[in-house]
Amino acid sequence: MNIPYYGFLAGLPVWSTILLGAALLLGVIFVGAPLWLTTVAITALAFAFGLPWWGWVLLVPPLTVLLLPPLRRALLSNRLLQLMRSSGFLPAISDTEREAIAAGTVWLDGELFSGKPDLARLATADYPDLSDEERAFLDGPVEEVCRMTDDWRVHQERDLPPEVWDYLKKERFFGLIIGKQFGGLGLSPTANSAVVTKLTSRSMPLAITVMVPNSLGPAELLSHYGTEAQKQRWLPALATGDEIPCFALTEPGAGSDAGAIRSTGVVFRAEDGTLMLRLSWNKRYITLAAVASVLGLAFQLHDPDNLLGKGPQPGITCALIPTSTKGVVLGRRHDPMGVPFYNCPTTGAAVVGPLEDAIIGGAAGAGRGWQMLMECLAAGRGISRPATAVGGAQLVARAVGAYAAVRQQFGLPIGRFEGIEEPLARIAGANYLMEASRRYVCGALDAGQKPAVVTAIAKYNTTEIWRSVINDGMDVLGGAAISRGPRNLLANSYAGTPICITVEGANILTRTLMIFGQGAIRCHPYAFREIDAIARNDQHAFDRSFWPHVGHVVRNSVRALLLGLTRGRLTWSPVPGAAGRHWRRLNWASAEFALLADVAMGALGGDLKRKEKITGRFADWFSWLFLASATLRRFEAEGRRNEDLPLLHWSLDTAFARMQQAREGLFDNLRLPVLGHALRWPGGLWARLNPFGKGPTDATGQGAARTLLQPGSQRDRLTQRIHVPNDPHSALGRLEHALQLCSDAEPVLKKLKDAVRQGRLPKARPAQLLDQACEGGILSEAERRLVQDAETARSEAIAVDSFTLDEYLRSSEQGASELAGSR
Ligand SMILES: Cc1cc2nc3c(=O)[nH]c(=O)nc-3n(C[C@H](O)[C@H](O)[C@H](O)COP(=O)(O)OP(=O)(O)OC[C@H]3O[C@@H](n4cnc5c(N)ncnc54)[C@H](O)[C@@H]3O)c2cc1C
Repeated sequence: MNIPYYGFLAGLPVWSTILLGAALLLGVIFVGAPLWLTTVAITALAFAFGLPWWGWVLLVPPLTVLLLPPLRRALLSNRLLQLMRSSGFLPAISDTEREAIAAGTVWLDGELFSGKPDLARLATADYPDLSDEERAFLDGPVEEVCRMTDDWRVHQERDLPPEVWDYLKKERFFGLIIGKQFGGLGLSPTANSAVVTKLTSRSMPLAITVMVPNSLGPAELLSHYGTEAQKQRWLPALATGDEIPCFALTEPGAGSDAGAIRSTGVVFRAEDGTLMLRLSWNKRYITLAAVASVLGLAFQLHDPDNLLGKGPQPGITCALIPTSTKGVVLGRRHDPMGVPFYNCPTTGAAVVGPLEDAIIGGAAGAGRGWQMLMECLAAGRGISRPATAVGGAQLVARAVGAYAAVRQQFGLPIGRFEGIEEPLARIAGANYLMEASRRYVCGALDAGQKPAVVTAIAKYNTTEIWRSVINDGMDVLGGAAISRGPRNLLANSYAGTPICITVEGANILTRTLMIFGQGAIRCHPYAFREIDAIARNDQHAFDRSFWPHVGHVVRNSVRALLLGLTRGRLTWSPVPGAAGRHWRRLNWASAEFALLADVAMGALGGDLKRKEKITGRFADWFSWLFLASATLRRFEAEGRRNEDLPLLHWSLDTAFARMQQAREGLFDNLRLPVLGHALRWPGGLWARLNPFGKGPTDATGQGAARTLLQPGSQRDRLTQRIHVPNDPHSALGRLEHALQLCSDAEPVLKKLKDAVRQGRLPKARPAQLLDQACEGGILSEAERRLVQDAETARSEAIAVDSFTLDEYLRSSEQGASELAGSR
């Protein structure tokens, strides 16, 4: 073959030259060079290769069309736009969907969706901690209310004790998010989350009672959208707990699809000319409603006489109604899995109030309710539920680790058996990554971000991981987790787990519709702009987003190919050391995710929305990309501690294995027009031959599990957000006490074993050798006492509660009669 080429290429063999040229071109595309630069590179290569005249004829016209916008629009973009409009290729988006998608901001999710994430940005994103004032609140009133609350008693008496309610009000627990100018504590999202985390570790009803007034509800809506008069009227009283709020959105026919609410508010003019509202509703599952003095309400506003000038149906609106208003019906309760917090239905018929007072934001807020709710949910979803999940998981880690260390079989702690090591490793690793995600997301919220997709990822994944952590915890504790009573640390949390899964966006829907469905449009660098341009028939806007999108797909194809071939090694890590390989794999996984997402969106268009098994797998892949970066960020923020390497590796190996599972599922199940088999066979085979990861090794799991079995600073750091009682007679305190003593006694037991091995003592259980060992001078008196104390503490720690028949019947009768009394 005789290709004429010039300059420095002269003299090189033809195939080397072709390879060199291809490498240069791929390199230019790999780094994401703009179209003009890529064109220059192509032209230069063509020239260097001495492209014949007919090659130039083929090359120049398309490049010219692509580079000149007026020509490109006239010849290509406008036609494509019309084709897409007439074929109905892209999803029709309803107004409520549009507002949900537009709510909030795009944060690091945009990086991960791009296929070319800025790793340095991920590695240095905000990771703030508490201020001194916030820490003092955590160490003071939060610790104190934990000490005051006995979860068993709360469950028996089916309410928090009066002194706890009073203390919560006195210390302004109901005003965590209310600004200081209104008498609240004005805590940051990080601190709000830390409070809920700690309270959860003590008692779920306590945490929920504090959490609800501080999440999506009257205080938050008023702070952002209330009129000055409304803020002055309500916020100081909400901060002190003089007013107790609830927020009612859910109805029998509108749960996950909250936009379908049927409750109504009708605008009318009173005789004195004041604008009034007449409200009717039927709501259910409303937390705190039975004890609320002010009811936040979402309803469809009707204005038949157009008194507000917004048409007859202004849309979903939020209002505040004092529960003492005539027509408000409260009082009944639901029983959410036996967890004793107030959760209730409420109805109202022809409840009348002045419109300017009632509607949040006054008349200007009419019809803005959905937008308000979506904006607040975009941020709030990242706080309460992840905090609940982390608080519960840290308690499991602490309690289960201690139990596995002190409970023995065949003279060995059960935590040393490989079968138990597996769930312990999962508990430890999950804790490391859940806390990483909680802090990472709160850092964004502290900085004023409202990342809707990231908070959905945080809510869905932390609550699902929590569900597996509590299951593992129950298994390791065995009968001790099942036998209810004051000593049981897990049973109540286990029962309450489905609550976290269902509220603030039920998990199935959050996974399949929000994380990827919403994410694909919101986080994608071009999709939302394209859909918007098509909907508005805006030719310029379409042209400005469509062609960069094509370039984006070409770049990600090259990146996915090259990073796949090198398993990420073609890229750099933003940090040195052991985490580097994970960062590089993250880059690779992001490139392939972005490419496959574009292929699916391009081939399926609006149909993708209905293929929830596919969107669910994309959501998993995207979620684990995010959780992996959060965990890597934690490792950096905490100074790359060597002792944390097993936890880091366990978390990242798990993350890549979960991405791989989603990847294989996608290749197996994506049924795409035209591309179908090409994608399934070579793509699926390639994915299996070249996996992102296979999960943690047994050795990594062992390292992770061992972090829970020893008292010390690493275990303390892993569980640092929870309340650990000092009282050795409390449930967790008893385990802690036993763990410390058993750990202190280990060297003494080793002395005994050595003496047996040397024949200085007979073969027997350690407890039977103590006297002889003391008499023989092998142990001191203090050492003998230590072993005896450790054995006593060990027996105490593994004991479970039992009741006389009378006590047993009384406790169930008490619950039943209080339930009957509340009807
Ligand atoms: C203890 C508790 C406290 C609550 N507190 C409040 C409160 O204070 N205020 C308030 O307004 N509400 C509250 N809720 C209501 C809560 O927000 C709803 O339960 C939730 O929105 C789900 O609605 P639903 O129960 O009607 O389930 P449904 O909407 O009937 O959903 C049932 C299942 O279907 C799934 N699903 C629904 N649609 C889709 C879809 N398109 N694709 C895939 N899956 C789908 C859901 O994920 C879920 O798994 C509370 C609920 C509970 C249980």
